[in-house]
Amino acid sequence: MKREVLLNPGPVTLSDRVREALTRGDWCHREPEFAALMQSINSRLTKIYAETADGFAAATLTGSGTSAVEGMIQSFAPREAKTLVVSNGVYGERVAAMLDMQNKPYVCTDGEWLEAIDMSRVTALLEEHPDVTTVVSVQHETTTGRLNDLSELGELCKARGLTLLLDCVSSFGCEAIEFDAWNVGAVAATANKCLHSVPALSFVLARNELWKQPSQACSVYLDLHSYQKAQYDTGFSPFTQSVQPAFALDAALDELQEQGGWQQRGESYRGRAAQIAATLEGCGVKTLLPKQEYSSVLWTWLLPEGWTYERLHDRLKTEGFVIYAGQGNLASSVFRIAHMGDIDSDMDRLCELLKEAFS
Ligand SMILES: *Cc1c(COP(=O)(O)O)cnc(C)c1O
Repeated sequence: MKREVLLNPGPVTLSDRVREALTRGDWCHREPEFAALMQSINSRLTKIYAETADGFAAATLTGSGTSAVEGMIQSFAPREAKTLVVSNGVYGERVAAMLDMQNKPYVCTDGEWLEAIDMSRVTALLEEHPDVTTVVSVQHETTTGRLNDLSELGELCKARGLTLLLDCVSSFGCEAIEFDAWNVGAVAATANKCLHSVPALSFVLARNELWKQPSQACSVYLDLHSYQKAQYDTGFSPFTQSVQPAFALDAALDELQEQGGWQQRGESYRGRAAQIAATLEGCGVKTLLPKQEYSSVLWTWLLPEGWTYERLHDRLKTEGFVIYAGQGNLASSVFRIAHMGDIDSDMDRLCELLKEAFS
């Protein structure tokens, strides 16, 4: 197998152990051994963060991260009361599109992609719409690499008793999430980003109180209450689960634990980010956002004069490294580098290649 070093925001370069786990066996998803595995995975997912070990339960479904986010919005965003979407990128806008398609009442801050969360806009919308009960935001906006500072928003949710639903698809497993201080009701995430497994399974962790309320879903496949209940009670899922990716996720969770959990994973990403930044800044390449606003997971860089994204991408791809383009208006002016996956042994070579390209 030719080694591909994936610097896109998931799927990631796998460890040999996770890749080999995919061939553990041809299991039936309706046999007790698979049910036991599913229950073990759900239980381990709630233990990655200490605050969710009690009082939260997981539902795992077959689909990419978007399916978990949409399942969360389906199941928990109310049909009658209003939802406030706090958006500053592609993924916040996607949540608004989901509410639109589900015909659920909502308002959206429609924040600029390059700006932080605008709390004055949030409070103005809450003032104007006193029937808002639920707030949705994105912790790490992968559009730009911004780690949204959720402390003020979360504290406001806590003070006003608003349920906060978070898209943590590209931050779960490496960034701090203040479940209690921010009044987090549920988070959506996926196996194939910071947890370093394959794409196929994604999941939602939610408070038991939320699981006990009637589902707000207007979809059969994305009604997460049905998954949570069946998986908790029996280990089985309403529909066929992707079996081999469950083996891989199981192995990836072993690795995360052995490697020191989410804090240590965040540290390792920050180390990689610093090494890349030292290289690129040494060549005069600049970041799109101020560095302190970035997550540990992914940074967006401005293409230097004379470079197109395609030229840089193709040059690195020939050497086995896959970078990522910008979205929307940013497509022609930036490139993105993610720091996830089993790539410690590739970092020096990546930095050499970047240096050769830009100096
Ligand atoms: C990757 C990602 C998603 C899910 O995207 P998929 O294409 O479904 O994998 C959702 N939200 C954020 C913030 C992401 O980075």
